[in-house]
Amino acid sequence: KNKKISSKEMVDFYLGRIKKYDNVINSFITLNPEAQKEAEAYDSGAYSDKPFAGIPIAVKDNMVTKGLLTTCGSNILNNFIPPYDATVIKELKDAGFIILGKLNMDEFAMGSSCETSFYKKTVNPYDINRVPGGSSGGSAASVAARLVPASLGSDTGGSIRQPAALCNIVGFKPTYGRVSRFGLVAFASSLDQIGPMTKTVEDAALLLEVIGKYDKRDSTSFNTDSFKYTDPYRDSIKGVKIGLPKEYFGEGLSPEVAKATEDAIEFFKRNGAEIIDISMPHTDYAVSVYYILATAEASSNLARFDGVKYGFRERCEDLNDMYTLTRSRGFGTEVKRRIMLGTYVLSSGYYDAYYLKAQKVRTLIKKDFIEAFNKVDFILTPTSPTTAFRLGEKASNPLEMYLSDIYTISLNLFGGCGLSIPGGFDANGLPIGVQLLGNYFDEDRLLSLASFFE
Ligand code: GLN
Repeated sequence: KNKKISSKEMVDFYLGRIKKYDNVINSFITLNPEAQKEAEAYDSGAYSDKPFAGIPIAVKDNMVTKGLLTTCGSNILNNFIPPYDATVIKELKDAGFIILGKLNMDEFAMGSSCETSFYKKTVNPYDINRVPGGSSGGSAASVAARLVPASLGSDTGGSIRQPAALCNIVGFKPTYGRVSRFGLVAFASSLDQIGPMTKTVEDAALLLEVIGKYDKRDSTSFNTDSFKYTDPYRDSIKGVKIGLPKEYFGEGLSPEVAKATEDAIEFFKRNGAEIIDISMPHTDYAVSVYYILATAEASSNLARFDGVKYGFRERCEDLNDMYTLTRSRGFGTEVKRRIMLGTYVLSSGYYDAYYLKAQKVRTLIKKDFIEAFNKVDFILTPTSPTTAFRLGEKASNPLEMYLSDIYTISLNLFGGCGLSIPGGFDANGLPIGVQLLGNYFDEDRLLSLASFFE
């Protein structure tokens, strides 16, 4: 009612910043050409009853947007204009948000640096010679550089939390089943989850209220009450039990990240939380299990990109040549590597040795979490073992790249909620993230604890 700034002014402000800075940051793949017109409609009072009337937001380019190019960072979708909106997009629009554009990402969300995108390399606003993290690198860099007030990312093995950590923002992965995946282009369906990437915890909570709803069009959407933020730890965190799993503080953790994590632990202790040492003994297997299950699911999901139904097609006389050439030219190296790995672990001769075994170990990793949450309310760890690395530094070493997600991947295998919050800077001024993990559907308490820290 007391609106001091119009929607048009806001949209123009952010478009102005995008024009000025995004030729360096490279976070947007597509801008919504209707954004200004939509803002004018809000200002004319047409939809002023909506709670977020006329506020700009941007989304990772793997959420389908009606009439607006959706590429997934891949050449194979270089001309894909979806005929419908993903549920999260519909929820954003219903709440009054204006979709400013679509954000860069690793191709099909496979990567930890944004470098596997076919279109551009997003850079870290804190040091433009470094990566923003990934795969939601565009979502993180755009918010960090204030090119948009908030964004949505997706997290299969850390793709919201790791780039949030590297870009000094809040990145929240909801419980599997909290947010609808209808219209999210599938990478690994048993792990994928959409979540907010914002400057503050409160913004993340507000956005989760908008997108955290049951959706009958996603068979894995959990039929529970819509998310409502009540901030239970507003005044005190006395007696809250926070577990520190020893497996997350070993080899490979940079001393500066370890120090920032220590500082966060001290903060919680000083404010009355109980800090408890715990062990999650199967943590060591998480990366291996993830890269078997995620590639298996990806190889199946990506079979739909055959040049017939979506995206671009290499025209040939022969149908088999058409499939082969379309996929050879449409997919990049990392995507091909994963399709081959996934096909291999699912092949009849190796299914038992790899896929089935990995499913069993996934259950053990889940048990680690279930047992931990019998003892503690939350788990605290670093988000990423290091701060942002240099562009190109890990691009030619996939194993090294896979290890960037060593602290984030287990949560997806378990399915609980988790977030990364800013936790300081290293000596070069690069951001460090602190990760807090919570039990299934414990978002309200988790966000409240994080906001107490903030
Ligand atoms: N970096 C991990 C991978 O490459 C996780 C990606 C994600 O969460 N989408 O698969």
